[in-house]
Amino acid sequence: ASLFASVEMAPRDPILGLNEQFNADTNPNKVNLGVGVYTDDQGKLPLLKCVAAAEKQMSETLKPRGYLPIDGIAAYDKAVQGLVFGAEHPAVKGGRIATAQAIGGTGGLKLGADFLKRLQPNATVLISDPSWENHRALFESAGFPVDTYPYYDAANRGINFDGMLAKLKASPAGTIVVLHACCHNPTGYDLTDAQWDEVINVVKAQGLVAFLDMAYQGFGNGIAEDGAVVLKFLEAGLSFFVSTSFSKSFSLYGERVGALSIVSETAEECARVLSQLKRVIRTNYSNPPTHGAQVVATVLSTPELRAMWEDELAGMRDRIKLMRTALVNELTAAGVQGDLSYITRQKGMFSYSGLNAAQMQRLRSEFGIYGVDSGRICVAALNTGNLKAVAAAIKAVM
Ligand code: PLP
Repeated sequence: ASLFASVEMAPRDPILGLNEQFNADTNPNKVNLGVGVYTDDQGKLPLLKCVAAAEKQMSETLKPRGYLPIDGIAAYDKAVQGLVFGAEHPAVKGGRIATAQAIGGTGGLKLGADFLKRLQPNATVLISDPSWENHRALFESAGFPVDTYPYYDAANRGINFDGMLAKLKASPAGTIVVLHACCHNPTGYDLTDAQWDEVINVVKAQGLVAFLDMAYQGFGNGIAEDGAVVLKFLEAGLSFFVSTSFSKSFSLYGERVGALSIVSETAEECARVLSQLKRVIRTNYSNPPTHGAQVVATVLSTPELRAMWEDELAGMRDRIKLMRTALVNELTAAGVQGDLSYITRQKGMFSYSGLNAAQMQRLRSEFGIYGVDSGRICVAALNTGNLKAVAAAIKAVM
Protein backbone atom coordinates (compact mmCIF):
# COMPACT_ATOMS: atom_id res chain seq x y z
CA ALA A 1 0.00 0.00 0.00
CA SER A 2 1.10 3.56 -0.51
CA LEU A 3 2.68 5.37 2.42
CA PHE A 4 -0.31 7.68 2.67
CA ALA A 5 -3.06 5.13 2.07
CA SER A 6 -4.40 5.54 5.60
CA VAL A 7 -4.37 9.35 5.59
CA GLU A 8 -7.90 10.63 5.92
CA MET A 9 -9.13 13.85 4.41
CA ALA A 10 -9.23 16.49 7.17
CA PRO A 11 -12.39 18.54 7.52
CA ARG A 12 -12.18 21.97 5.90
CA ASP A 13 -11.46 24.86 8.22
CA PRO A 14 -15.00 26.21 8.74
CA ILE A 15 -14.10 29.85 8.17
CA LEU A 16 -11.43 29.52 5.51
CA GLY A 17 -13.72 27.01 3.76
CA LEU A 18 -16.41 29.68 3.77
CA ASN A 19 -13.94 32.03 2.08
CA GLU A 20 -13.34 29.53 -0.71
CA GLN A 21 -17.08 29.19 -1.17
CA PHE A 22 -17.40 32.99 -1.23
CA ASN A 23 -14.68 33.36 -3.86
CA ALA A 24 -16.42 30.79 -6.07
CA ASP A 25 -19.83 32.51 -5.76
CA THR A 26 -20.77 34.39 -8.98
CA ASN A 27 -23.43 36.57 -7.29
CA PRO A 28 -22.31 40.17 -8.08
CA ASN A 29 -23.83 41.40 -4.80
CA LYS A 30 -22.09 38.88 -2.57
CA VAL A 31 -20.86 40.07 0.83
CA ASN A 32 -18.24 38.31 2.95
CA LEU A 33 -19.09 38.64 6.64
CA GLY A 34 -17.34 35.39 7.54
CA VAL A 35 -13.66 35.92 8.14
CA GLY A 36 -12.45 38.31 10.88
CA VAL A 37 -10.87 40.98 8.73
CA TYR A 38 -11.48 44.73 8.87
CA THR A 39 -12.29 46.36 5.56
CA ASP A 40 -12.90 50.08 5.01
CA ASP A 41 -16.07 51.73 3.76
CA GLN A 42 -15.05 50.85 0.18
CA GLY A 43 -14.79 47.21 1.19
CA LYS A 44 -10.99 47.26 0.90
CA LEU A 45 -8.40 45.87 3.27
CA PRO A 46 -6.53 48.99 4.44
CA LEU A 47 -2.79 49.51 4.29
CA LEU A 48 -2.34 51.84 7.24
CA LYS A 49 -0.52 55.11 6.50
CA CYS A 50 1.71 54.59 9.54
CA VAL A 51 2.76 51.20 8.12
CA ALA A 52 3.49 52.66 4.69
CA ALA A 53 5.50 55.47 6.31
CA ALA A 54 7.51 53.03 8.42
CA GLU A 55 8.18 50.85 5.38
CA LYS A 56 9.31 53.88 3.39
CA GLN A 57 11.66 54.81 6.21
CA MET A 58 12.94 51.23 6.39
CA SER A 59 13.45 51.06 2.61
CA GLU A 60 15.68 54.13 2.75
CA THR A 61 18.09 52.35 5.07
CA LEU A 62 17.90 48.79 3.77
CA LYS A 63 19.49 46.34 6.14
CA PRO A 64 20.88 42.85 5.56
CA ARG A 65 18.67 40.02 6.90
CA GLY A 66 20.61 38.13 9.49
CA TYR A 67 18.90 35.77 11.90
CA LEU A 68 17.01 37.52 14.66
CA PRO A 69 17.52 36.54 18.28
CA ILE A 70 15.34 33.56 19.24
CA ASP A 71 12.90 35.82 21.09
CA GLY A 72 12.79 38.34 18.25
CA ILE A 73 13.67 42.01 17.81
CA ALA A 74 14.49 43.46 21.24
CA ALA A 75 12.96 46.85 20.36
CA TYR A 76 9.78 45.07 19.26
CA ASP A 77 9.49 43.04 22.47
CA LYS A 78 10.02 46.23 24.45
CA ALA A 79 7.37 48.06 22.42
CA VAL A 80 4.92 45.21 23.03
CA GLN A 81 5.54 45.41 26.76
CA GLY A 82 5.03 49.15 26.69
CA LEU A 83 1.74 48.79 24.87
CA VAL A 84 0.35 45.84 26.81
CA PHE A 85 1.63 46.52 30.33
CA GLY A 86 2.89 50.13 30.23
CA ALA A 87 6.60 50.94 29.90
CA GLU A 88 6.70 52.42 33.38
CA HIS A 89 4.90 49.60 35.17
CA PRO A 90 7.00 48.21 38.03
CA ALA A 91 6.60 44.68 36.64
CA VAL A 92 8.15 45.84 33.36
CA LYS A 93 10.82 47.93 35.04
CA GLY A 94 11.54 45.16 37.47
CA GLY A 95 12.15 42.64 34.69
CA ARG A 96 9.30 40.33 35.72
CA ILE A 97 7.81 39.95 32.25
CA ALA A 98 9.27 37.78 29.51
CA THR A 99 8.06 38.80 26.05
CA ALA A 100 8.91 36.98 22.85
CA GLN A 101 7.98 37.94 19.31
CA ALA A 102 5.64 35.32 17.87
CA ILE A 103 4.15 34.31 14.53
CA GLY A 104 0.91 36.23 15.00
CA GLY A 105 -1.41 35.88 17.97
CA THR A 106 -1.84 32.23 17.00
CA GLY A 107 1.91 31.74 17.36
CA GLY A 108 1.83 33.40 20.78
CA LEU A 109 -0.89 31.00 21.90
CA LYS A 110 0.99 28.01 20.54
CA LEU A 111 4.25 28.99 22.26
CA GLY A 112 2.35 29.42 25.52
CA ALA A 113 0.59 26.09 25.06
CA ASP A 114 3.86 24.24 24.38
CA PHE A 115 5.55 25.93 27.33
CA LEU A 116 2.64 25.05 29.62
CA LYS A 117 2.64 21.44 28.45
CA ARG A 118 6.16 21.09 29.86
CA LEU A 119 5.21 22.94 33.05
CA GLN A 120 1.77 21.46 33.80
CA PRO A 121 1.53 18.32 31.66
CA ASN A 122 -1.60 17.02 33.37
CA ALA A 123 -3.63 20.21 33.38
CA THR A 124 -6.93 20.71 31.61
CA VAL A 125 -7.47 23.77 29.45
CA LEU A 126 -10.75 25.65 29.73
CA ILE A 127 -11.97 27.82 26.86
CA SER A 128 -15.18 29.84 26.65
CA ASP A 129 -18.32 28.29 25.20
CA PRO A 130 -18.21 29.33 22.41
CA SER A 131 -14.70 30.52 21.58
CA TRP A 132 -12.48 31.34 18.63
CA GLU A 133 -12.63 28.04 16.75
CA ASN A 134 -8.86 27.58 16.79
CA HIS A 135 -8.49 27.66 20.59
CA ARG A 136 -9.63 24.08 21.11
CA ALA A 137 -7.60 22.61 18.27
CA LEU A 138 -4.53 24.56 19.25
CA PHE A 139 -4.47 23.43 22.88
CA GLU A 140 -5.48 19.90 21.95
CA SER A 141 -2.64 19.67 19.48
CA ALA A 142 -0.30 20.81 22.26
CA GLY A 143 -1.50 17.71 24.14
CA PHE A 144 -4.08 19.10 26.57
CA PRO A 145 -7.61 17.93 27.18
CA VAL A 146 -9.84 20.95 26.44
CA ASP A 147 -13.09 21.64 28.25
CA THR A 148 -15.31 24.72 28.23
CA TYR A 149 -16.71 27.20 30.73
CA PRO A 150 -20.20 28.61 30.11
CA TYR A 151 -20.08 32.01 28.41
CA TYR A 152 -22.79 32.89 25.89
CA ASP A 153 -26.29 33.31 27.23
CA ALA A 154 -28.50 33.13 24.14
CA ALA A 155 -31.77 33.79 25.97
CA ASN A 156 -30.53 37.01 27.56
CA ARG A 157 -28.20 38.02 24.74
CA GLY A 158 -25.27 38.36 27.05
CA ILE A 159 -22.95 36.35 29.26
CA ASN A 160 -23.86 33.49 31.57
CA PHE A 161 -21.58 34.90 34.21
CA ASP A 162 -22.88 32.77 37.10
CA GLY A 163 -22.27 29.66 35.01
CA MET A 164 -18.80 30.80 34.08
CA LEU A 165 -17.85 31.58 37.68
CA ALA A 166 -19.29 28.31 38.98
CA LYS A 167 -17.21 26.35 36.48
CA LEU A 168 -14.03 28.21 37.43
CA LYS A 169 -14.75 27.67 41.13
CA ALA A 170 -15.17 23.95 40.53
CA SER A 171 -11.87 23.61 38.66
CA PRO A 172 -8.77 22.17 40.32
CA ALA A 173 -5.61 24.20 40.90
CA GLY A 174 -3.39 24.38 37.83
CA THR A 175 -6.30 24.41 35.38
CA ILE A 176 -5.44 26.68 32.47
CA VAL A 177 -8.17 29.20 31.68
CA VAL A 178 -8.12 30.93 28.31
CA LEU A 179 -9.80 34.33 28.61
CA HIS A 180 -10.53 36.85 25.85
CA ALA A 181 -9.09 40.12 27.14
CA CYS A 182 -11.45 42.20 24.98
CA CYS A 183 -13.77 41.96 21.97
CA HIS A 184 -14.80 38.35 22.60
CA ASN A 185 -14.69 36.23 19.46
CA PRO A 186 -17.28 35.11 18.38
CA THR A 187 -19.97 36.68 20.60
CA GLY A 188 -18.84 40.31 20.98
CA TYR A 189 -19.87 40.24 24.66
CA ASP A 190 -17.17 41.29 27.14
CA LEU A 191 -17.13 40.99 30.92
CA THR A 192 -17.68 44.17 32.92
CA ASP A 193 -14.98 45.60 35.15
CA ALA A 194 -16.67 44.20 38.25
CA GLN A 195 -17.02 40.77 36.63
CA TRP A 196 -13.32 40.73 35.78
CA ASP A 197 -12.57 41.45 39.44
CA GLU A 198 -14.62 38.41 40.41
CA VAL A 199 -12.88 36.23 37.83
CA ILE A 200 -9.50 37.37 39.12
CA ASN A 201 -10.51 36.56 42.68
CA VAL A 202 -11.50 33.03 41.67
CA VAL A 203 -8.34 32.54 39.57
CA LYS A 204 -6.34 33.56 42.61
CA ALA A 205 -8.29 31.57 45.19
CA GLN A 206 -8.34 28.40 43.07
CA GLY A 207 -4.76 28.65 41.82
CA LEU A 208 -5.85 28.65 38.19
CA VAL A 209 -3.49 29.65 35.39
CA ALA A 210 -4.87 32.56 33.37
CA PHE A 211 -4.00 32.79 29.70
CA LEU A 212 -5.27 36.08 28.27
CA ASP A 213 -5.76 36.19 24.53
CA MET A 214 -5.76 39.79 23.31
CA ALA A 215 -6.11 39.78 19.53
CA TYR A 216 -8.18 42.97 19.24
CA GLN A 217 -6.61 45.61 21.47
CA GLY A 218 -7.98 48.96 20.37
CA PHE A 219 -11.02 47.60 18.55
CA GLY A 220 -13.37 47.80 21.54
CA ASN A 221 -13.23 51.00 23.56
CA GLY A 222 -9.63 52.13 23.02
CA ILE A 223 -6.08 50.91 23.42
CA ALA A 224 -5.82 51.60 27.16
CA GLU A 225 -9.43 50.68 27.88
CA ASP A 226 -9.15 47.32 26.12
CA GLY A 227 -5.82 46.59 27.80
CA ALA A 228 -7.10 47.45 31.28
CA VAL A 229 -7.85 43.79 32.01
CA VAL A 230 -4.17 42.90 31.67
CA LEU A 231 -3.29 45.52 34.27
CA LYS A 232 -5.93 44.11 36.61
CA PHE A 233 -4.20 40.72 36.49
CA LEU A 234 -0.87 42.45 37.15
CA GLU A 235 -2.29 44.38 40.12
CA ALA A 236 -3.63 41.13 41.54
CA GLY A 237 -0.06 39.86 41.74
CA LEU A 238 -0.76 36.84 39.56
CA SER A 239 1.63 34.97 37.29
CA PHE A 240 -0.09 34.68 33.92
CA PHE A 241 0.21 34.52 30.13
CA VAL A 242 -0.81 37.08 27.51
CA SER A 243 -0.81 36.48 23.77
CA THR A 244 -1.16 39.60 21.65
CA SER A 245 -1.51 40.27 17.95
CA PHE A 246 -1.03 43.17 15.55
CA SER A 247 -2.84 41.41 12.73
CA LYS A 248 -6.00 43.46 13.22
CA SER A 249 -4.76 46.60 14.95
CA PHE A 250 -2.10 47.27 12.29
CA SER A 251 -3.93 45.54 9.45
CA LEU A 252 -0.84 43.36 9.08
CA TYR A 253 -2.62 40.01 8.84
CA GLY A 254 -0.16 38.39 6.45
CA GLU A 255 2.97 39.58 8.22
CA ARG A 256 2.17 37.38 11.21
CA VAL A 257 3.19 39.78 13.96
CA GLY A 258 2.29 38.82 17.51
CA ALA A 259 3.85 38.11 20.87
CA LEU A 260 3.69 36.01 23.98
CA SER A 261 4.30 37.62 27.36
CA ILE A 262 4.69 35.65 30.58
CA VAL A 263 4.44 37.46 33.91
CA SER A 264 6.47 35.94 36.75
CA GLU A 265 6.89 36.79 40.42
CA THR A 266 10.55 37.82 40.28
CA ALA A 267 13.16 38.87 37.72
CA GLU A 268 15.17 35.77 38.55
CA GLU A 269 12.17 33.52 37.87
CA CYS A 270 11.48 35.48 34.67
CA ALA A 271 15.00 34.79 33.38
CA ARG A 272 14.48 31.04 33.83
CA VAL A 273 11.07 31.23 32.19
CA LEU A 274 12.48 33.11 29.20
CA SER A 275 15.28 30.59 28.81
CA GLN A 276 12.72 27.77 28.55
CA LEU A 277 10.47 29.80 26.27
CA LYS A 278 13.44 30.24 23.93
CA ARG A 279 13.87 26.48 23.84
CA VAL A 280 10.27 26.11 22.75
CA ILE A 281 10.85 28.64 19.97
CA ARG A 282 14.19 27.15 18.95
CA THR A 283 12.70 23.70 18.49
CA ASN A 284 9.67 25.01 16.60
CA TYR A 285 11.00 27.51 14.07
CA SER A 286 14.36 28.64 15.48
CA ASN A 287 13.69 32.38 15.32
CA PRO A 288 11.00 34.70 13.96
CA PRO A 289 10.89 36.71 10.71
CA THR A 290 12.11 40.29 10.49
CA HIS A 291 9.82 42.50 8.47
CA GLY A 292 6.46 42.85 10.22
CA ALA A 293 7.92 43.19 13.69
CA GLN A 294 10.35 45.85 12.44
CA VAL A 295 7.42 47.79 11.00
CA VAL A 296 5.50 47.63 14.29
CA ALA A 297 8.57 48.48 16.38
CA THR A 298 9.28 51.48 14.13
CA VAL A 299 5.72 52.77 14.37
CA LEU A 300 5.41 52.29 18.12
CA SER A 301 8.75 53.89 18.91
CA THR A 302 8.49 56.90 16.53
CA PRO A 303 6.20 59.51 18.13
CA GLU A 304 4.68 60.88 14.86
CA LEU A 305 4.07 57.39 13.49
CA ARG A 306 2.63 56.23 16.75
CA ALA A 307 0.20 59.16 16.84
CA MET A 308 -0.74 58.33 13.25
CA TRP A 309 -1.38 54.70 14.21
CA GLU A 310 -3.53 55.62 17.19
CA ASP A 311 -5.60 57.83 14.89
CA GLU A 312 -5.98 55.18 12.25
CA LEU A 313 -6.89 52.55 14.82
CA ALA A 314 -9.48 54.93 16.29
CA GLY A 315 -10.81 55.36 12.77
CA MET A 316 -11.31 51.61 12.39
CA ARG A 317 -12.90 51.35 15.84
CA ASP A 318 -15.26 54.27 15.19
CA ARG A 319 -16.30 52.94 11.79
CA ILE A 320 -17.20 49.59 13.35
CA LYS A 321 -19.32 51.37 15.97
CA LEU A 322 -20.97 53.43 13.24
CA MET A 323 -21.81 50.22 11.37
CA ARG A 324 -23.34 48.71 14.50
CA THR A 325 -25.66 51.69 14.91
CA ALA A 326 -26.40 51.73 11.18
CA LEU A 327 -27.22 48.01 11.22
CA VAL A 328 -29.69 48.53 14.06
CA ASN A 329 -31.29 51.40 12.11
CA GLU A 330 -31.48 49.45 8.85
CA LEU A 331 -32.89 46.35 10.54
CA THR A 332 -35.51 48.49 12.24
CA ALA A 333 -36.30 50.22 8.93
CA ALA A 334 -36.59 46.78 7.28
CA GLY A 335 -39.25 45.90 9.84
CA VAL A 336 -37.33 43.78 12.34
CA GLN A 337 -39.11 44.01 15.69
CA GLY A 338 -37.74 43.84 19.18
CA ASP A 339 -34.78 45.09 21.16
CA LEU A 340 -31.73 45.28 18.91
CA SER A 341 -29.54 47.14 21.39
CA TYR A 342 -27.42 44.01 21.84
CA ILE A 343 -25.78 44.83 18.50
CA THR A 344 -24.35 48.09 19.84
CA ARG A 345 -23.56 46.54 23.22
CA GLN A 346 -21.25 44.02 21.57
CA LYS A 347 -17.58 44.97 21.12
CA GLY A 348 -15.04 44.41 18.41
CA MET A 349 -15.27 42.92 14.96
CA PHE A 350 -18.08 40.48 15.51
CA SER A 351 -21.75 40.30 16.23
CA TYR A 352 -23.51 37.17 17.34
CA SER A 353 -26.68 37.78 15.40
CA GLY A 354 -28.77 35.07 17.04
CA LEU A 355 -29.58 33.60 13.61
CA ASN A 356 -29.45 29.80 13.41
CA ALA A 357 -27.49 27.63 10.98
CA ALA A 358 -30.43 27.21 8.58
CA GLN A 359 -30.91 30.97 8.43
CA MET A 360 -27.19 31.56 7.89
CA GLN A 361 -27.25 29.01 5.05
CA ARG A 362 -30.22 30.81 3.46
CA LEU A 363 -28.31 34.09 3.69
CA ARG A 364 -25.57 32.44 1.62
CA SER A 365 -27.59 30.54 -0.94
CA GLU A 366 -30.32 33.14 -1.56
CA PHE A 367 -28.52 36.42 -0.96
CA GLY A 368 -24.78 35.73 -1.32
CA ILE A 369 -24.22 36.93 2.24
CA TYR A 370 -21.59 34.83 3.96
CA GLY A 371 -21.52 34.55 7.74
CA VAL A 372 -20.59 31.65 10.03
CA ASP A 373 -23.24 28.99 10.76
CA SER A 374 -23.03 29.88 14.45
CA GLY A 375 -24.71 33.17 13.52
CA ARG A 376 -21.52 35.17 13.79
CA ILE A 377 -21.17 38.06 11.35
CA CYS A 378 -18.18 40.35 10.94
CA VAL A 379 -19.46 43.89 11.52
CA ALA A 380 -16.07 45.22 10.39
CA ALA A 381 -16.93 44.06 6.86
CA LEU A 382 -20.18 46.05 6.71
CA ASN A 383 -20.09 49.33 4.79
CA THR A 384 -22.48 51.95 3.47
CA GLY A 385 -22.58 50.05 0.16
CA ASN A 386 -23.67 46.66 1.50
CA LEU A 387 -25.56 47.54 4.68
CA LYS A 388 -29.07 47.89 3.24
CA ALA A 389 -28.83 44.62 1.35
CA VAL A 390 -27.51 42.79 4.42
CA ALA A 391 -30.30 44.17 6.63
CA ALA A 392 -32.98 43.28 4.09
CA ALA A 393 -31.60 39.76 3.72
CA ILE A 394 -31.47 39.23 7.49
CA LYS A 395 -35.08 40.38 7.73
CA ALA A 396 -36.02 37.99 4.91
CA VAL A 397 -34.58 34.89 6.62
CA MET A 398 -35.91 35.71 10.10
N1 PLP B 1 -7.24 34.92 19.08
C1 PLP B 1 -8.45 35.31 18.68
C2 PLP B 1 -9.55 35.39 19.66
C3 PLP B 1 -8.67 35.63 17.33
O1 PLP B 1 -9.88 36.00 16.94
C4 PLP B 1 -7.59 35.55 16.43
C5 PLP B 1 -7.75 35.86 14.99
O2 PLP B 1 -8.79 35.82 14.42
C6 PLP B 1 -6.35 35.15 16.90
C7 PLP B 1 -6.21 34.85 18.23
C8 PLP B 1 -5.17 34.98 15.99
O3 PLP B 1 -4.60 36.12 15.55
P1 PLP B 1 -3.46 36.07 14.45
O4 PLP B 1 -4.15 36.22 13.14
O5 PLP B 1 -2.60 37.23 14.78
O6 PLP B 1 -2.73 34.79 14.56
